[in-house]
Amino acid sequence: MSEAVRVIYIIGAGRSGSTLLDTVLASHPDVVGVGELVNLHSAGWTSNEVCACGKLGTECDFWTRVRTAWQRRVPEATVESYVALQKRIEFFTGLGLMQLARMLRQRISPTAEFQSYLQQTEALYQSIAEVSGKSIIVDSSKHPIRGALLTHLRGIDLRLVHLVRDARAVVWSRKKSLEADQKSGVQFAIKPRSAWYSVAFWAFINVLATIVCLFRRRQSLRMRYEDFVAEPQVQLERLGHVCGLDYSATAQALLTGQPLKVEHPIAGNRMRMKGSVTLKPDWEWRDRLPARDRAACWLCAGWLLLAFGYGRSRVRRQQSASESVSWFASVWGCFARTPAKR
Ligand SMILES: [Zn+2]
Repeated sequence: MSEAVRVIYIIGAGRSGSTLLDTVLASHPDVVGVGELVNLHSAGWTSNEVCACGKLGTECDFWTRVRTAWQRRVPEATVESYVALQKRIEFFTGLGLMQLARMLRQRISPTAEFQSYLQQTEALYQSIAEVSGKSIIVDSSKHPIRGALLTHLRGIDLRLVHLVRDARAVVWSRKKSLEADQKSGVQFAIKPRSAWYSVAFWAFINVLATIVCLFRRRQSLRMRYEDFVAEPQVQLERLGHVCGLDYSATAQALLTGQPLKVEHPIAGNRMRMKGSVTLKPDWEWRDRLPARDRAACWLCAGWLLLAFGYGRSRVRRQQSASESVSWFASVWGCFARTPAKR
């Protein structure tokens, strides 16, 4: 495939609704959604994570053909060597600041190892496009470091969607534990996290994601999950504009409650194992998140919640970021595109 593969990369913190957004974006006939592609080699092809089709990553026909196509493009690479490179270049250690610093340094003077990793990653996207027969790929890995890495790839046409969800909803989601159940898409048991840990991580990742989007200002947007579930038609118009696609048919399907089919995302939220998804708002945290955890959110990341247009009262839920932010958000808005006024 000679033309550049377009990659729509969903960037942001976990538990923000990226699996839902991945499925919605992949409902377009020219698009394939692959879930958290960052985990393909390590989980899908090494640890035998289950694909959304119900088969193991090593047995799914789609991913087996992708692996064959990838190895044909980069015969010197192996799954193991790719994972080893990924650990050195892309995966977080500590706060991830070291990886970010290295990534910036590579812009000036790229090492042979880094260039090899870029080539192998680009080959992966090209292989997915070849096997799926679609020229546009949605990758919902979310990691800001990977987003920064993708800005280095010359052979892909990158679009960034910074997905933000209210920190209080994320904190509530991360307070729940999950038992390991491979068939339902939970590879490992997930322990509950404290509100302080979750909100600090949420703030850190979203700041990094905003910085990465600065490198693709014209090809990126920021979207709040709450706006998406409240008014999918408006948000799909924005997404379609940035991604160069017409999502009017998808908007109609969502508004009439039609389920959207899930194909082969290899990793991500267990929602992907249900075969299809429908748009359903989730406001459980409003009734169940303890007051002390809400206070932790405001103390730790109130400045960022305000910048993203979140208020403390329920009334502000439906307001767009540009209508409800403080002067601080106006400054912030100089660096990241905010939702259009309605
Ligand atoms: Zn599959």
